[in-house]
Amino acid sequence: MLTNRPRGTNDILPAEINKWYYLEETFRQVCHQYGYGEIRLPIFEHTELFVRGMGDTTDVVEKEMYTFNDRGGRSITLRPEGTAGAVRAYLENNLYAGPQPVKMYYLGPMFRYDRPQAGRYRQFHQVGIEAFGSHDPGLDAEIMALAMDYYTRLGLSGLSLQVNSVGCPQCRPVLRQRLQEFFAPHMNQLCPECRSRYHRNPLRLLDCKNEKCQELGKGAPSALDCLCPDCAAHFAAVRHQLDLLGVAYQVNPRLVRGLDYYTHTAFEILVGGIGAQSAIGGGGRYNGLVEICGGPPTPGIGFALGLERIILARESQGLTWPRTRPLDVFVAVADAAASDRAVRILADLRAGGLAADRDYLGRSLKAQMKQAGRLNPAYTVIAGSQELEQGRVAVKDMASGEQQTVPLDQLVDFLQGRTK
Ligand code: AMP
Repeated sequence: MLTNRPRGTNDILPAEINKWYYLEETFRQVCHQYGYGEIRLPIFEHTELFVRGMGDTTDVVEKEMYTFNDRGGRSITLRPEGTAGAVRAYLENNLYAGPQPVKMYYLGPMFRYDRPQAGRYRQFHQVGIEAFGSHDPGLDAEIMALAMDYYTRLGLSGLSLQVNSVGCPQCRPVLRQRLQEFFAPHMNQLCPECRSRYHRNPLRLLDCKNEKCQELGKGAPSALDCLCPDCAAHFAAVRHQLDLLGVAYQVNPRLVRGLDYYTHTAFEILVGGIGAQSAIGGGGRYNGLVEICGGPPTPGIGFALGLERIILARESQGLTWPRTRPLDVFVAVADAAASDRAVRILADLRAGGLAADRDYLGRSLKAQMKQAGRLNPAYTVIAGSQELEQGRVAVKDMASGEQQTVPLDQLVDFLQGRTK
């Protein structure tokens, strides 16, 4: 127990943190270029926010939330996604009263009690964006372009961007009714979940993963058949904007996202080679959500991309990772009499902006050099009491193996100049 992490969680070790820095930094860069600013939200919120915001018929709310009462008796939930919290922050901080659209991004852990498998975890990490206050189809296209731009900068290939429109509260009832009419004769053959969806959330009949349900659903009406003129025009404009931006996509009329608050544009990005969990990102419009959460009617749109799946996808495509900045200098001590001086040298190097380390196990000089080899710094400083008395130390270039003597008062400059 004490040495097992909870199922579905992962440790991210120092040896692999470079992957995460790279994914996060690249995301920050892309978002900055597209005019999005970072928002940091609480990891937990009031349970009610997710129940309202995600819809109580969604799998996440019904089965997957980490919900508990805190010591004050309030029902708290570890966030299963980022959108609801962003909406709450938009309202609570009166961001709707300022210039629109408000364009924000976030990164961080999310929590869902799902059955763990490759690419599916109980604590996982998403990067996401949310844009509030504009219904402009150009914004829909922009966020899809941003997501695809991000993946491309990460070197990923073989991606498929699937786009659909799920309509609005005006045309959604038509689709609901037509779906119910279509599936009614097959009720007894649907899986138990779909039978329940039939009444509560018929749109979800379209994205059931059960083979039998998929078979039965062939020829079912799609959202695109039922769009009202406004929604049809909006969807056409989104596609036009995607074309202007040169973003490749496929229209997938069966794409309905699991969450109730989505209106108009819905999209998902799929990649091959990472097993059953092939969705590496998805998003869409949620023009009804801000109002549901108690705010003024406000259009909104966003996406979330799963970082663990991006890592799996990059590795399945044989892409390598940039290394984290290596150690610049290791400070070795040749004899005990030099060790106090070496402590000062180390502090001076660090104060000079260098990444420097030393031995803490009382190793012999030989063992220290071996340790330096493992840490792989650019240089090793060897401090011996005799040379220190003359104001000098030995500096070994670890790549070439060459060693030279450097006056102590020039050491920081010398190493700074060579480790940029
Ligand atoms: P969603 O919020 O369900 O639309 O998910 C957006 C993205 O987050 C998905 O496309 C996945 O890449 C990722 N994701 C969702 N759930 C999980 C999970 N349980 N484990 C790992 N990644 C996930």
